[in-house]
Amino acid sequence: MGRRRRRKIVRVLRRRIPKIFICPVCGKRAVTVSISKETGIAHITCGSCGVSGDVQISEGMTSVDAYCTWYDEVLSKGVEIPLEPSSS
Ligand SMILES: [Zn+2]
Repeated sequence: MGRRRRRKIVRVLRRRIPKIFICPVCGKRAVTVSISKETGIAHITCGSCGVSGDVQISEGMTSVDAYCTWYDEVLSKGVEIPLEPSSS
């Protein structure tokens, strides 16, 4: 004899994956990630300061992972900022 419990339908909680990220260079929320699944490369661009980069992603990685990888790279290696300071 089993107790029957009516189960509520399990709702799959899908966390919304943010599509715009904070730029480590200019600090603005303007970084977008576009993933090319064919090549396994995520292309990251900041719409504000124009900094960009590519990171290799593996299967199952999301844009958030790609962004984090890139973020770490920027912090450790530094990145070339396309906007040149006006001093010369
Ligand atoms: Zn930026």
